[in-house]
Amino acid sequence: MEEEKDAILKYKTNKHQLRTLRENYPKIHLYEKPFIGTEDIRQFCYCKRKIFFRYVLRSPMPLTYKMEYGMLKHEKIQKIKNKADDHVQKYYNVYLSDAELGLVGFLDYFEYDGKEAYPIEIKTGNIPAGELINSHKMQVAAQAMLIEKNFDFLVKKVRIFYTKFQKFTDYSIDIEDKLKVMEIIQEIREIISKERMPIPIDNPAKCRDCECTKYCKRG
Ligand code: SF4
Repeated sequence: MEEEKDAILKYKTNKHQLRTLRENYPKIHLYEKPFIGTEDIRQFCYCKRKIFFRYVLRSPMPLTYKMEYGMLKHEKIQKIKNKADDHVQKYYNVYLSDAELGLVGFLDYFEYDGKEAYPIEIKTGNIPAGELINSHKMQVAAQAMLIEKNFDFLVKKVRIFYTKFQKFTDYSIDIEDKLKVMEIIQEIREIISKERMPIPIDNPAKCRDCECTKYCKRG
């Protein structure tokens, strides 16, 4: 009994010491620039203002129908995984970062077919008639850059799996797309550091699906 009391006391003392250490030690910033996520890049392309609400005001975000639906992704990945019986190497739920660029991303999965590697993103919406929509393209281009950085491949395409149609579609990406991602990262950092609220998007119809409507006067 006495031993137990001593152990609890020792733990409490240590906990107290630890807290004192944490509070009094100088703060160490390993990275000067804030890390930007591939998902932030998608949000920025949808509407720049979202970045302001998320990272400057740090407003709590309600879940939209689309977000809840997106959270079912892991079940969908499991189904694809179960069907995977080809020779292609697949890596699921991969977290990658690039400290130099200040970019991080959680990839649904990526493949290496023996010749090239490419990210695969799972989307729940419709297949676009022509090009991949810009917000999705920039998101997967950023994922491609993370694969390049971490595995030393040149990534020239991205693949989207449209769950509604159970169909994979490939899109090519080039250096211009990757340069645009770098510009976006820079612009996101500026919004955060200057605490500047960007103008709202041109198309008010997009505000209907936005989780920031309750903070944004436009919404
Ligand atoms: S409500 Fe509209 S303008 Fe405001 S952050 Fe959302 S999408 Fe942008």
